[in-house]
Amino acid sequence: MANPTQVLVIGGGPGGATAAGLLAREGLSVTLLEKQHFPRYHIGESLLPSCLPILELLGVREKVDAHGFQEKWGAYFDWGGENWDVTFGASAEERRYSFQVDRSTFDKLLLDHARELGVRVVEGAEVKRLGFDGERPTSAVWTLDGSTEEQVTHFDHVIDASGRAGLLNTRHLRGRRYHDVFRNIAVWGYWERAKPLAQGPDGAIAIGSVEDGWLWGIPLAGGRFSVGLVTHRDVFNEKRQAGATSEELYHAAIAESGLLGDLLATAELVTDLRTEKDYSYTSERFAGPGYFLVGDAACFLDPLLSTGVHLAMYSAMLAAASLASVTRGEFAEAEAQALYERSYRQAYLRLLVVVSNLYQQNKGKDSYFWEAQRLTLRDCSAEELKQSFVEIVSGIEDLRDSQAALDLAVETTGRAMSEWEGWNWRSSSGERWGKADPNEPTADDPETAGARAQFFDTALQRTAGPAPEGAKGLYVVTEPRLGLAVYG
Ligand code: FAD
Repeated sequence: MANPTQVLVIGGGPGGATAAGLLAREGLSVTLLEKQHFPRYHIGESLLPSCLPILELLGVREKVDAHGFQEKWGAYFDWGGENWDVTFGASAEERRYSFQVDRSTFDKLLLDHARELGVRVVEGAEVKRLGFDGERPTSAVWTLDGSTEEQVTHFDHVIDASGRAGLLNTRHLRGRRYHDVFRNIAVWGYWERAKPLAQGPDGAIAIGSVEDGWLWGIPLAGGRFSVGLVTHRDVFNEKRQAGATSEELYHAAIAESGLLGDLLATAELVTDLRTEKDYSYTSERFAGPGYFLVGDAACFLDPLLSTGVHLAMYSAMLAAASLASVTRGEFAEAEAQALYERSYRQAYLRLLVVVSNLYQQNKGKDSYFWEAQRLTLRDCSAEELKQSFVEIVSGIEDLRDSQAALDLAVETTGRAMSEWEGWNWRSSSGERWGKADPNEPTADDPETAGARAQFFDTALQRTAGPAPEGAKGLYVVTEPRLGLAVYG
């Protein structure tokens, strides 16, 4: 049998490197195949504080701390006519920070660290397809550096962390569903000599809404400033058809935003612009016989709250804990996968609700904070409402949930989600999510409404309803070994 390995990880981004490193640390034999050679460019520079405890668990925190990335202590929003800052941490004593990173450097640091933990990393290795025994993937066919010679690796378990390429889903399972509302396009470039942000916490990401979307401004080490425009595909295409170039639309949005316009008044754009579709999607399954989908390979959320790397590392940690317990014989595969499926979906859905809420620009910040409180397990006083929002958008609420009895966490937030008044979408069976408003106009054409219904059906599947018997009361433990445990 060619190249056997206990676990095969496809993709060496933050999701793949985290899952592979944690499993190797638990003593499993792990092979990671990465299509590109690192360092390689990647978008997604603004990290959430929840990434730091996971970096610590991996044993790479010191290296990241020592590297000199820009520290990020929060975010500043100029949103729908209101301004507010998000300082990570509940109090001065609990201040949390994260980093604004050059992803080519950050991702290489993580991948090299996974190698040091014992992962067999092969760069330049593109997985072409998987071989199955029934529904269970058991082998991968891959090529090295564009060669036509095919190699085969056999495995017991596979973690698909191939990012938005989503090999297992797009090539085999065909279970990806796109969110009709968040079919966005991003255009971005890098600037020098931007003014430092006067408002908000140190190193904050600046988020400014404009009529057709929003802009990010991310201060990076070495005086570079990443600035991107996110706008709906249809609006963007209409304007392009009317004769505007991407560059013109980008500069017009910066001029329109008081916040970004001011920061860039005397700055210079020093790179070409890059463009990418950032369509949000989810998958019918996040795990199944012998496989886990981690990070963007499972689902992708509009980048408004900078949640991509958090979701990738968080899901990688959950998948590694599940798999470590399964291979030690502590839990059956189906039980561990049920936990994974529900935890990751719940993290994704909660953030989706917060992002959707923010896109309804007329609501006002009190409403965002109030809705956020309903999505946590906390019982906050009126003065503390903003803190629930901060904890969700820091990723900390997800980490906390993984250490609580999961069925309780999912049921509580699931209830809050289903009561959210913003769910004015119907499921494909015609059932309405959230409170029905009989007077609400239904402007959607049937095709759009159908696509949305499919997306939400898929997103909520396996999260709605009570926990499967086996997954009841399970949670993640990191000491003395990474794995799952039963509550109480
Ligand atoms: P990736 O980082 O994409 O890694 C996947 C890896 O798999 C790649 O290295 C790829 O080469 C490899 N691969 C793919 N196919 C194969 C194959 N067949 N065989 C072998 N290897 C393969 N996130 C944030 O946290 N903060 C932000 O500020 C942010 N901003 C964003 C802005 C935009 C416009 C977009 C589009 C995204 C943004 N994101 C942001 C999201 C972030 O980029 C991703 O969520 C994150 O990189 C996901 O990590 P991952 O490990 O799942 O996938």
